Amino acid sequence: MEKAITSRDIEMLKGIKTPAYVVDERLLKKNLELLKSVQDRTGAKILLALKGFSMYHEFPLVGEYLAGITSSSLNEAMLGRKHMNKEVHIYAPAYRPDEIDEIGIICDHIVFNSSHQIKMFKDRVKTANPSIEIGLRVNPEYSEVATEIYNPCASNSRLGAKLDTIEEEDFEVLDGIHFHTMCEQNSDTLERTLVEVEKRFGHVMHKMKWINFGGGHHVTREDYDVDLLIGLIERIRDTYDVQVYLEPGEAIALNTGYLVTEVLDLVKNNMDLCIVDTSAACHMPDVIEMPYRPHIIGSGKPGEFEHTYRLGGLTCLAGDIIGDYSFKEPLKVGDKLIFTDMAHYTMVKNNTFNGVNLPSIAVMDDEGIEVVKTFGFEDYESRL
Ligand SMILES: *Cc1c(COP(=O)(O)O)cnc(C)c1O
Repeated sequence: MEKAITSRDIEMLKGIKTPAYVVDERLLKKNLELLKSVQDRTGAKILLALKGFSMYHEFPLVGEYLAGITSSSLNEAMLGRKHMNKEVHIYAPAYRPDEIDEIGIICDHIVFNSSHQIKMFKDRVKTANPSIEIGLRVNPEYSEVATEIYNPCASNSRLGAKLDTIEEEDFEVLDGIHFHTMCEQNSDTLERTLVEVEKRFGHVMHKMKWINFGGGHHVTREDYDVDLLIGLIERIRDTYDVQVYLEPGEAIALNTGYLVTEVLDLVKNNMDLCIVDTSAACHMPDVIEMPYRPHIIGSGKPGEFEHTYRLGGLTCLAGDIIGDYSFKEPLKVGDKLIFTDMAHYTMVKNNTFNGVNLPSIAVMDDEGIEVVKTFGFEDYESRL
């Protein structure tokens, strides 16, 4: 992502009031064009998974390229209906009886997680919306996800029904089968996963209208094998005569956004420490949860350049540490630091722990930067 940015863009980013997420619409369009080419070449439909990227300012743009959205809650479904109004899908590990009728009205597809939930709610959603299509998320008992908290096929996982928990009569109700077992992976993982899905569920896939491959497809990453994906979609489409859906979140917003921050203080405790006006805990929780080390433009690994700092956030959490970075020049109070790849799984996970303010949200293109959202005390207060 650092390669894609010009010095003019960097100057523009440094001029914005911090902290701020800035999404570069030129880069977002590039991702969307690639995803649309997959749709055009295969007839597959691609949905934006709102879980990863819910910045609805961009929904009209996303809707120009993709088939719609998928949601994991009534709120997400409502956001997608309101701001994009194309196909709206939903999957949740369990639905609430007091929300199921409204979900039925809003959604085009509903994917259940168990036989039990199908029996409880299929009639209610069909009454609310006679044209709704019903799916079941299955657990193909195969995944290649090493991080346990991101592995839907971990032992004792609640996500997706195993074949031996599904009754024959449940398959009769279904329009489609859904699986989601991948995370930031290439199409070779999908190839091996599909073999396992077919081994267990091939006998019912012929009866379905659609198969949903879930998310976790890192389609817009530089080394992603798009041609293999195309071949796999075509094979499933033709073998079972089904509509194929993909619902990536991360791939849509991958490498399209920045988090611009400012150095507030520099202190010492054995090593040089730097406190910035953001927080791993509040503004990039995956740094702690995943965990990963976000890149900062112009920085290196610890020791790579002359001046190494441990960057920490504004909260009182001892573990609110972003990581260790080195710079060619010593940092000064007031310096702006630009984190890359901050569009997905950031805004959607934000919180106001310690009362730390939410970063504003901005967009950037050839014309310049426009701030589309700012936050303050009311946003903090309204949640408590
Ligand atoms: C998280 C999730 C997605 C999106 O996953 P990405 O890794 O962001 O592509 C899609 N479908 C389901 C059911 C999910 O839980």
